[in-house]
Amino acid sequence: MTNSKLKINFNPGQAAIPQSVLQQAADAVLNYNNTGLSILGIPHRGKLFADILEEANTLVKDLCNLGNEYEVLWMHGGGRLQFAMIPMNYLGDGETAGYIDSGYWAADAISYAKHYGNVAILASSKQDNYTHLPAWPASIDNTLAYLHITSNNTIYGTQCSHIPKVDVPLIADMSSDIFSREMDYTHCDMFYAVAQKNIGMAGVTMVAVKKDMLQRTKRNLPPMVSYAAHAAANGVLNTPPVFAIYTALLMLRWTKEKTIADIEKENNAKTALLYKEIERNSLFDCIVNIKTDRSKMNVCFTATKPEYEKAFIRFCEEHNVTGIEGHRSVGAFRASLYNAISLADVQQLVALMQEFETINNK
Ligand SMILES: *Cc1c(COP(=O)(O)O)cnc(C)c1O
Repeated sequence: MTNSKLKINFNPGQAAIPQSVLQQAADAVLNYNNTGLSILGIPHRGKLFADILEEANTLVKDLCNLGNEYEVLWMHGGGRLQFAMIPMNYLGDGETAGYIDSGYWAADAISYAKHYGNVAILASSKQDNYTHLPAWPASIDNTLAYLHITSNNTIYGTQCSHIPKVDVPLIADMSSDIFSREMDYTHCDMFYAVAQKNIGMAGVTMVAVKKDMLQRTKRNLPPMVSYAAHAAANGVLNTPPVFAIYTALLMLRWTKEKTIADIEKENNAKTALLYKEIERNSLFDCIVNIKTDRSKMNVCFTATKPEYEKAFIRFCEEHNVTGIEGHRSVGAFRASLYNAISLADVQQLVALMQEFETINNK
């Protein structure tokens, strides 16, 4: 039943998942660990799921070097529900939250926060269509309720080199680069990541939050949108997305086995190779010109002539390579090189770029 002829998948999310993880997930749907039950049929308040949750939480803490001052939660509602829950929980009436406006998702988070309080945009690169990171603010007002940053800008292909240390609670959207490199996760009071990039399948969002943040909720909220209520219910406030959490656990085990240090090395090699080829190849150009701002997860590039755009995408599809179409607001191409993409996959793309150049320069 295994399909060994899977395409090389450069989609931005949902995205590539390692074959071994897909196989184990598929097996669990049919008969979870020989329990005689499908993973889709196990009770969410029973021991089978409690073990899954505990192992997943332990692995997150282990991979991010988090101590017991952090709580790990698995939430419904994707990234956007976090955009809403953060101000609901942590931006009180009359208070101001700081946001760094570094791209599409950051701007969306800002628009959600405005429903609940004041937003101070401390830096923005919108005027340049987000083709570089905004300059870090010279000073940060320490009365801000919190500061929200986006560590990797999935659509525009820029990425923060590090997680800053600030004097207000720091909240980071790490949806598209979590576990891709060593990072100072502990500089954050809360960070979160949708699963459908580096932690498996859509339907669940990993949230790591300091326990003292849980005490600082600013509103009397219905439990489903309260971090404190989810934590108090030990992750089973309602029926959680069990299969998505199990798939996340499989990805966490895969990540732990590879080690983040080795994943980071491979990610560095993957992007070095691809950016170098874009710069060398007469048919393509990089969109992000400041090299230190370039993302190691989402590589955005354009064609030197408009007619190459559709033609190259078609050429890739003919050669079993998919998902490189760029976001309409940015340009021709985006190759998303999440952890499941290997160096060999990128070598394949580079070979196609070279072949395409040879054909078109005849
Ligand atoms: C993909 C992504 C999201 C996605 O949010 P959904 O609501 O789950 O679609 C949020 N933030 C970033 C940085 C992303 O890359």
